[in-house]
Amino acid sequence: MDIMAHSLWSLVLLPGPPSIAKVVLGIAPDAAVFATSLTVQALKGKMQPGFKTRQEMMEWYHRKENRWVLNLYKWTHSLIIWVLLLIPLFAYYFFFRNQVPWYLLAAPLHILMDIPTHDRNSFPVQFLNPFSKFQFNGLHWSKPLVFIGNYVLIIIVIYFRIFVIRK
Ligand SMILES: [Zn+2]
Repeated sequence: MDIMAHSLWSLVLLPGPPSIAKVVLGIAPDAAVFATSLTVQALKGKMQPGFKTRQEMMEWYHRKENRWVLNLYKWTHSLIIWVLLLIPLFAYYFFFRNQVPWYLLAAPLHILMDIPTHDRNSFPVQFLNPFSKFQFNGLHWSKPLVFIGNYVLIIIVIYFRIFVIRK
């Protein structure tokens, strides 16, 4: 899913007022991968090539020298990793600060949304990594119907959140 949709979903689904933390955690699984990839390219003195098609892009990522990006993506899109990272943080805020840090759930939410909106050919989400290579062959988020449907759903949920739930 695109970064804008991830940010909006984090803001509308998680309880509490809008915050930068929700957006940051909501895009973290992608940002960690693509910011690192862009930095590595810049350090190599190269620009990330512009891709005309998704297939062309995936061929580039499957090249031997770029395959680490796909690998890193598997780790940042693992629910197992996020649960292990977040449980101690969540427990700390909950038990010692008397707060429920909802924003932390933005990262696992990102993965739950990516699972059905990625297919085997374009950054499949191996959400049980490293224990299982299982991938769900979903409908890619860039397909026009999925893309438009996603934003329509976001608008409906924003409407409900603002006018119906008022929280
Ligand atoms: Zn993602």
